[in-house]
Amino acid sequence: METLCLPADRESLALAADLLKAGRVVAFPTETVYGLGANALDDGAVRAIFAAKERPADNPLIVHVASPGQLPPLCHVTQEALKLMEAFWPGPLTLLLTKTERVPDVTTAGLPSVAVRCPSHPVANALLSACGLPIAAPSANRSGRPSPTTAAHVYEDMRGRIPLILDGGACSVGVESTVLDLTGKIPCVLRPGAVTAEEIARVAGQCSVASSVMRPLREGEAAPSPGMRHRHYAPKAKMTVLVGSDSRVIPDLIARYDAAKNAVILAHESALPLLGDRRAYSLGDTPEDGARLLFRRLREMDALGCEYILAQGWKAEGSALAVMNRMARAAAFDIITLE
Ligand code: AMP
Ligand code: MG
Repeated sequence: METLCLPADRESLALAADLLKAGRVVAFPTETVYGLGANALDDGAVRAIFAAKERPADNPLIVHVASPGQLPPLCHVTQEALKLMEAFWPGPLTLLLTKTERVPDVTTAGLPSVAVRCPSHPVANALLSACGLPIAAPSANRSGRPSPTTAAHVYEDMRGRIPLILDGGACSVGVESTVLDLTGKIPCVLRPGAVTAEEIARVAGQCSVASSVMRPLREGEAAPSPGMRHRHYAPKAKMTVLVGSDSRVIPDLIARYDAAKNAVILAHESALPLLGDRRAYSLGDTPEDGARLLFRRLREMDALGCEYILAQGWKAEGSALAVMNRMARAAAFDIITLE
């Protein structure tokens, strides 16, 4: 199959909407990462997403809508959900709500809840409005690869597998949405994203964070979110993350780099001048910069063919939890904290 990659304009948006209405799969930009979309209510269309991604069938998809008004046929909308939508939609917050019979089991991997989100990216929003359908859309990478934050990343992974990629430039957030479970007593973050637990608690009164966000699942432990069972965001190289003050972390990074073969460093922008002529790339200065750049850097490191990535992280709390959750998984939880 030929894969078109077109700048998102009026014409390509109309083509994308027609493809979606015909049950086909289209990749499009959102503020978090690029999504691989299809009609969430069409069994066959949703199966085509799983096939293109080679995604395990037990990992459910997020359903994207143009506005909260589209939700009532899909799920039971609670007062708490309405308050959170009012505060954070459109934006990078996904809500888990009890699903109705309208949503096919393939979309939710057989779970009784459905994940819903209204993205803020103008191209995503225009596409959702134009097709008028709820669109199931996981990240547009092949399963296990870092999520795509540019149309070129999607092309790398999806060439020959889907008919169309809409190019809307680089994603501003760079990591996937916050996944918030609203089916229990207390709202619980299953996957951290740009909307933090602290911000959610200010609106909902309280908010917990699943304990497995920063550690591997234990043998036999049930995953709160099926996505946590699978290896994620993995570069080909082995990766170690170092966290602590610059004065502790930089000498350690240098010693490890010098002792290794074919290594590369991902460091905070401010630390780059301290690394001499070693191969080093910037993760920016703030955790938000790191989130925006991480997946791009992991793909670049794969292309370089380096064997060992040494990355400077942030303390895993507040707005840094999102990027550290991805760094932890990319490094198979090899994180060293230097006090
Ligand atoms: P992605 O589409 O790649 O951003 O992944 C979607 C994430 O949302 C995965 O980690 C899923 O496991 C999670 N998710 C989607 N629907 C549900 C659900 N009904 N219950 C729990 N987690 C879900
Ligand atoms: Mg994904």
